[in-house]
Amino acid sequence: MKKLEQLISPNKVGELFENIHVMITLVDSSGALISWNHAFGDYKKSNSPINKLEDIFLQQDRHQVNFKLSAASQEHWTSEIISNNGTPSFFDCALIPMSNGNLLFTAEKIASTPDTQKLIERLNRQVKMFRLEREAAKKIARNKQVEMESVMIQAREVAQIDPLTFLLNRRMIVKELQSEVIRAVRYNSPLSISVMDIDYFKSVNDTYGHLVGDEVLRQVAYQLRDHTRQPDIAGRYGGEEFLILLPNSDLKAAAEQASRLCRQISQAVVQVQEHSIHVTVSIGIAQFRHEVDTWDTLLNRSDNAMYEAKRAGRNRWVVDE
Ligand code: GH3
Ligand code: MG
Ligand code: MG
Repeated sequence: MKKLEQLISPNKVGELFENIHVMITLVDSSGALISWNHAFGDYKKSNSPINKLEDIFLQQDRHQVNFKLSAASQEHWTSEIISNNGTPSFFDCALIPMSNGNLLFTAEKIASTPDTQKLIERLNRQVKMFRLEREAAKKIARNKQVEMESVMIQAREVAQIDPLTFLLNRRMIVKELQSEVIRAVRYNSPLSISVMDIDYFKSVNDTYGHLVGDEVLRQVAYQLRDHTRQPDIAGRYGGEEFLILLPNSDLKAAAEQASRLCRQISQAVVQVQEHSIHVTVSIGIAQFRHEVDTWDTLLNRSDNAMYEAKRAGRNRWVVDE
């Protein structure tokens, strides 16, 4: 059997449109009415101004209709449509997208007994309920995801950041050192590092107690961070020992920074409770020697230079030439 549409000549389709009781209107993608058949025209005449497709639907269904329009896919659903006597009736609705972006909308009234009316209402309520539940479930899932992400960020931070000073921890600063050495080798660029150790820190602990010692450490770390500029990186390498990486810097630049740090820290007064505490630091500087050093020999040279600064009287910096 041939399909009906194959047997009807196209010029008869217009007649069919005009004579059936199904409401048909052509709308653009925003829902603005372009043209309509007789049945829709009758409906339009007897209702308040209807310019857009959403105007024929109840307020709470308009968003859904506009969503269907914007999706521009073939849709088939049941909905209430406003009628002139004030009580909405159920219609079998369809949206058929055209190739030029417009959409054909058809609505056929469902001839219903009170029983089927009730059934449709119940089904509609269930659909609404289902939608609400789905939205709530989506929201919960989204919140869970946000929660998970923040836990993961925190976990990552805990693994990377020293909790006392908020600088990179030993593991991370060594990892950064390894990366900077690889970069310096690849681009044949200069790289200097500084090891900084607080002088006579044991006596701070012995004099004021460990908690005050912690606060002094924290404040020295703040100063270090304040004087470390991009792309330089600072981290806590040990108890009261810090490592500063200075990519693209030669010994001269590193020495200038060390000199500034020594001066600023020695001039600062660390105020903890009623105590005004002065501390100084010793810094050892080394520059990466291409084709000679590895990251750990560089670190050793810098450490040795720091001990030389200690031996030379502390509160100073020494360069490993
Ligand atoms: P030097 O000038 O030779 O560096 O003397 P120093 O006393 O600083 O050196 P030493 O290595 O003998 O002592 C370091 C002290 O730092 C020992 C340790 O108790 C203290 N220390 C290390 N980590 C912490 C910490 O997290 N908090 C506190 N309060 N003290 C720490
Ligand atoms: Mg020390
Ligand atoms: Mg030390």
